[in-house]
Amino acid sequence: MQSATILVVEDEQPILDLITNYLRAEGCTVHVARDGHAALEQARTFHPDLIVLDVMLPGIDGLEVCRLIQQEMDVYVLMLTARAEEIDKIVGLSVGADDYVTKPFSPRELVMRVKAILRRSRKVAGQVNGSRYDRSSLHFGTLAIDPETREVHHHRTLIELTPREFDLLYTLAEQPGRVFSRDQLLERIWGRDFVGIDRVVDVHIGLLRRKLEEDTANPTLILTVRGVGYKFVGHRQ
Ligand code: CA
Repeated sequence: MQSATILVVEDEQPILDLITNYLRAEGCTVHVARDGHAALEQARTFHPDLIVLDVMLPGIDGLEVCRLIQQEMDVYVLMLTARAEEIDKIVGLSVGADDYVTKPFSPRELVMRVKAILRRSRKVAGQVNGSRYDRSSLHFGTLAIDPETREVHHHRTLIELTPREFDLLYTLAEQPGRVFSRDQLLERIWGRDFVGIDRVVDVHIGLLRRKLEEDTANPTLILTVRGVGYKFVGHRQ
């Protein structure tokens, strides 16, 4: 955690202070914002590793902030929410959040979630950049996946993926034809100690298909293997 830069976005000062104090005690560099516009400015200025983002904010709400930030940069987002109905939006919409914590929460739990996200992000980065992987792009017909720039092109168009969507696609495509169970994908991409959203793998597969497949009802790239999990189909070029 020591080198992590974290942006905390929360308009309620006592909660902001609580989170900030706990994260600083863990050695993080912490920046703060109290509304959506400030959050976007701070994120653009400091390029944090992770954003702790409250849903209910003055100005632009947290869901919209999350969506806008994910379009601009590769950053992990932990959402704070006080209402059950917001969880559906966080999970169901492609806002790009990595995890969420419901209010009221214990600061220790929040710190644990932050650590889990940062740990697994390093793990995936290590896998993608490690020597046992070919660092050149993966090419499959009209699809190109570049682990160095973390960019995906399909039909010569840049596809905007969240960090987690990229990690999921890369993991599957790096071994075409191999069937991964949900647990295997969860462990590789979200980490063994993932405590977040149920069905997170299925949700992210759905998001990837919406961005990559011409017909999401009849996918041709990422196939469901009934009762087992998912596999990527394609011939590497
Ligand atoms: Ca709030």
